[in-house]
Amino acid sequence: MNANKTDARLANPKKDQPLLQLTNVTKRFGGLTAVNNVNLEIRQGDLHFLIGPNGAGKSTLFKTIMGYHRPDSGQVVYRSTDISNMDPYLLARMGFSIKFQTPSVYQDLTVGQNMIVALNRHRTGTTDMERETIDRLQAMGLHGVVNMPAGRISHGQRQWLEIALALAVDPEILLLDEPSAGMTPDETLRTADIIRDLNKQGMTIIVIAHDMDFVRALEPEITVLHLGKVFTQGRLSEIERNEEVQQIYLGKK
Ligand code: ADP
Ligand code: MG
Repeated sequence: MNANKTDARLANPKKDQPLLQLTNVTKRFGGLTAVNNVNLEIRQGDLHFLIGPNGAGKSTLFKTIMGYHRPDSGQVVYRSTDISNMDPYLLARMGFSIKFQTPSVYQDLTVGQNMIVALNRHRTGTTDMERETIDRLQAMGLHGVVNMPAGRISHGQRQWLEIALALAVDPEILLLDEPSAGMTPDETLRTADIIRDLNKQGMTIIVIAHDMDFVRALEPEITVLHLGKVFTQGRLSEIERNEEVQQIYLGKK
């Protein structure tokens, strides 16, 4: 375990306090308000999904939580500490990790080399890196492609590699931006299994998704974003019954 990382992690929140709390978070790009006054509470051990049509502000909200964007107003609080203006590397030390929507693997390096790069970034001591690389890739079902260039594996395998790389920091809170995008139905269900297992092990996970079969497989708490705002929150059965949600997906609202 990396000592620096341990020191940077904060004490557990009190029982009735959220792990992560967004209060009136707003992010503008020029005249466009991509994230508009968003309030969101995530508790330790939650599995929470953010859904909503394209352009709803989901990815921007993730990047604002992770310190890649500064909120124009509002606050992001993690374990009672205001992290609104912290840089991504500090948040990584505190236990945050993200898989972005756009691919971030090194296409010309092998799958194994990508994993080693990610592990090296977060390790100070000497560990058996080769063993750990194999173990971690095996856990994602990627042991058969360890020596393949990352640019040549299938789309689904690349998503799993991205998740494996995000897990290299052993995060406490994991943000996954569209992890099932472009996957076959079988791959989608396997991705749901991976996420369920991580959550059962105690990891707090926030997922952006489009695919309702993926959402259905996990039965998470859901927040619907639309035009940068929280449109509604609830479980899938409630969300699916909501006619206004159906309308925003069909572009009628
Ligand atoms: P989603 O992930 O829900 O599809 P995004 O957060 O990617 O939505 O985008 C929300 C809005 O913000 C879109 O209108 C998009 O074009 C705009 N946007 C996102 N990132 C930037 C940026 N870096 N600069 C300018 N506009 C952006
Ligand atoms: Mg997006």
